[in-house]
Amino acid sequence: MLGPGAIAHNGNLLNAEAIRRDLESQGVEFETSLDTEVMARLIEHTHGKTWAEVIRGAFARVTGAYSCGVITPDQVIAIRDPFGFRPLCIGFIPHAGQPSHVFASETCALDTVNATFVREVQPGEMVVMDDHGLQSVIFQKASRHAMCVFEFIYFARPDSILKNCELEEARIRMGQELAREAPVDADMVIALPDSGTPAAIGYAEASGIPFREGLVKSRYINRTFIQPTQSLREAGVMLKLNPLKRTLAGKRVIAVDDSIVRGTSSKRVIDLLRRAGATEVHMRISSPPMRFPCFMGVDIGSSKELIAAKRTVPEIREQIGADSLAYLSIPGLMRAVGRGTIDEFCRACFDGSYPVAVPQQLEMDKLALETH
Ligand code: SF4
Repeated sequence: MLGPGAIAHNGNLLNAEAIRRDLESQGVEFETSLDTEVMARLIEHTHGKTWAEVIRGAFARVTGAYSCGVITPDQVIAIRDPFGFRPLCIGFIPHAGQPSHVFASETCALDTVNATFVREVQPGEMVVMDDHGLQSVIFQKASRHAMCVFEFIYFARPDSILKNCELEEARIRMGQELAREAPVDADMVIALPDSGTPAAIGYAEASGIPFREGLVKSRYINRTFIQPTQSLREAGVMLKLNPLKRTLAGKRVIAVDDSIVRGTSSKRVIDLLRRAGATEVHMRISSPPMRFPCFMGVDIGSSKELIAAKRTVPEIREQIGADSLAYLSIPGLMRAVGRGTIDEFCRACFDGSYPVAVPQQLEMDKLALETH
C-alpha cells in the first residue's frame, strides 16, 4: 500500500460479489455492503510501484459501470469504465491560487466552481492529475461504447452537457418527436414536474397545443421512484404534487412524463387530474417502455416491479386509468439525442440488449417476473 487514499464512485460493479468473496478468502475484512468498498479494498490489496499502476491493476479485474475519482496525497486520478456507462468530465479553473484541473460527473458541477469544460474522460481512460498537469492512458478497450441513454432522458441534470449536447435541449426534442409520433386532440399540455417539463414544452411546441402548468410540485419532497417501499412512494406522490383545479377544470389534458417505472405514480397523478376536473387525460411518455431491469447503477427495480415487463401498452393504459397512452419509440429517442449511433448507447432497460455480460445470479434475482 502506497499510503492513504479516498475514492468516489458513480455506477455499479457487476462482479463485486466475486471480488469480495475472493478478498475475504485472503483474510480481508469488510465494514459495509457497498461496491465502493469492494473497489477500495481491491485497490488496497493490489500491488504496484505507483498509484496509477495499482489502480490500473485493480480495475483490470472489475466489470460493470464505474466513473471514479481516487484522491492520493499528491494526485487525483479519474477513471471511467471501457463502455462509458456513466458520465465523467475534466474542467479547468484558471483563477484558483494556481491554475488547476478538476474532475466531475456532470458539467453542471463545473459551473458552480467557475471551471470551464475541457473534455469528457473517454471510456476506458485513466487520467492522472498532479503538479505536472494531466497524463492520460487508455487502459482498456471495449467492443463498443454504451453510454446510458437514461442519463439523457432523466438521470443527468438538464443543465449538463453530454456528448456535446445540452440535456434540456435533448429532452425538448424528445417531446417534439413524441408529438409527431403520437398526436392527440386536447386543450393543454402539462408536465409531470420537474423531470417531464422539457419534454412537455417540446410536445406543446410541435403540436401547437398550449403548455400550461397543471401540477405544482413541493420543493421539499424528493424523487418518488427511488423511495424504498411502495407506501412511501405513493405517499410521496400525494405530498409532492398538487393540481391547479381552476386551470384543469373541464379541460382535455395531455400529461407528459419522462418515464413510467411501476405505474403507481402515473395512476395517482391521473386520479389527481380527474378529481381536479380534467375531462380527459392522455399520457405521453418521452422514453420507450422500461421492460428490463438495470444492472449498471440505475435503481429502477426488478422485472416483477416494472409495469411494462409483461404488459402491452393498452394494458398499461388501462391499469393507470388514462384515456390514451403513448411512449416515444427507440428511433425517435435516438433522433432526439442526435449524437452518435444507437450502438454507442446502452438502452438495455428498453430492449434487453445488455452491452456487458450479467452474472447469472444477478440475472436470476432481477429478471424473474414472478416471486415464488
Ligand atoms: S439499462 Fe437503462 S438505465 Fe441501465 S445503463 Fe442501460 S440505459 Fe441506463
